[in-house]
Amino acid sequence: MSLLEVTDLKVHFPVKHGLFSTARESVKAVDGVSFKIEAGKTLGLVGESGCGKTTLSRAILRLVDATGGNIRLDGEDITTMTGRALRERRRKFQMIFQDPYSSLNPRMTAGDIIREPIEIHGLAKTKSALNDRVAALMKSVGLSAEQASRYPHEFSGGQRQRIAIARALAVEPGLIICDEPVSALDVSIQAQVINLLQDLQREHSVAYLFISHDLAVVEHLSDDILVMYLGKVVESGPAAEICREPKHPYTQALLSAVPEVNPADNRKRIVLQGDLPSPIHPPSGCPFHPRCPLVEARCNSEVPPLRSVGGARAAACHLI
Ligand code: SF4
Repeated sequence: MSLLEVTDLKVHFPVKHGLFSTARESVKAVDGVSFKIEAGKTLGLVGESGCGKTTLSRAILRLVDATGGNIRLDGEDITTMTGRALRERRRKFQMIFQDPYSSLNPRMTAGDIIREPIEIHGLAKTKSALNDRVAALMKSVGLSAEQASRYPHEFSGGQRQRIAIARALAVEPGLIICDEPVSALDVSIQAQVINLLQDLQREHSVAYLFISHDLAVVEHLSDDILVMYLGKVVESGPAAEICREPKHPYTQALLSAVPEVNPADNRKRIVLQGDLPSPIHPPSGCPFHPRCPLVEARCNSEVPPLRSVGGARAAACHLI
């Protein structure tokens, strides 16, 4: 049984044009997405801004309602769960955001920020056990217990993200959704935070859904990768295989923008033309066709289904 199993998930938002308009269109922010995450593993979710990654994560956290499909956590269907039952399940999945400054309460000390969820969920029996736990969490993310009395503005961006990670870990979750957690940090600090996340995964057996627009970051720490474009999965499979030999033209373009570790590989840069189309009026046929360097006549009218392309890999392209 997988820790998280998402099947044919759809999140559509109605759009109205003008105050008196009755025409109802919808934005298909997430349109039939399926995947699994095993305990202690990392699934990297990649795509440009606006491709549906954040809506997908919000639907998993049940912050937005699914229009269709289902979400199973530890085998239990949580798609329409509400009230106390949902609150209890929520401890199992936590989230880390791109900007820790806006996600941490500026009026609380680092110690209180980490302490709060432990108290809410009654995870420490005595005050000294609570304090020991906060100190241990701070140490595990590379902060000292003495820093517990400081406020978020007294920390650097990387340190603030460490506080957010400690807070997420405080309730012993099975899954942490990391939404662009290093995009706002300097490159050298990014590597430190990513290494920390990997160390913590080994220690705590926590799974990550790691969301990023940057395939280089995702490649480094994911077991599997899901590439999204306009609300749909266009390629999925083991991270090492996708990064060695991307099959979908969109994944190839994303990967071609990643700087080479070995310049002798001489990867050819594919520059994507134009911006991501509006999700309100997505292109006909293959949604990637207006920007695809390999587009053919049938791509304008026929939607390529996501299908197996060997082993655990799948891609949605007529040419594969
Ligand atoms: Fe490009 Fe056509 Fe494949 Fe879409 S189906 S990715 S437009 S070649």
